[in-house]
Amino acid sequence: SAPLVAIIGRPNVGKSTLFNRLVGRREAIVEDRPGVTRDRLYGVASWEGRHFLVVDTGGVDPSLDTGLPGHIRSQAEVAMEEADLILFVVDAKEGATAVDIDIAAELRRSGKPVMLAANKADSPSRELAAAAMHELGLGEVHAVSAAHGRGVGDFCDALLERL
Ligand code: GDP
Ligand code: MG
Repeated sequence: SAPLVAIIGRPNVGKSTLFNRLVGRREAIVEDRPGVTRDRLYGVASWEGRHFLVVDTGGVDPSLDTGLPGHIRSQAEVAMEEADLILFVVDAKEGATAVDIDIAAELRRSGKPVMLAANKADSPSRELAAAAMHELGLGEVHAVSAAHGRGVGDFCDALLERL
């Protein structure tokens, strides 16, 4: 069966935009307001003739009990449990936040395969900013722009090598 990739990260980093880019359909609702993805949303992505499943989740915020409705948080946790690989998305425009650092620590503890995508790397200078995400200690930083497509092909190549 097709491997499952769970997209997690803080609200507003571009998880749903990346989901739509990978799945090639506008299914996830993209909004400026956080927490818009209320339930797990699954799609099939194809790259170089291979298929994998992608699940979009509401934003996960381990530091704030009240930051997100409980069921959104638990949806992200369920998605992480069942995933073969976790795609942790951060915002290259904002840089690594305290919450990103907490999530990164949780992911390292989980022992699951993790890939780190620094989204909103819309330009070469943003790609440089994205590289600073290396401080999260999750290995290679994949600079992508989900909105414009920049870096997404290279990222998919790297992803398939891990699946
Ligand atoms: P989510 O909450 O993590 O699912 O984030 P969304 O996909 O809903 O996106 C949040 C906001 O970031 C929206 O305004 C998107 O248009 C914007 N966004 C997403 N990807 C990119 C990107 O690659 N570059 C820029 N500049 N904005 C983006
Ligand atoms: Mg979303």
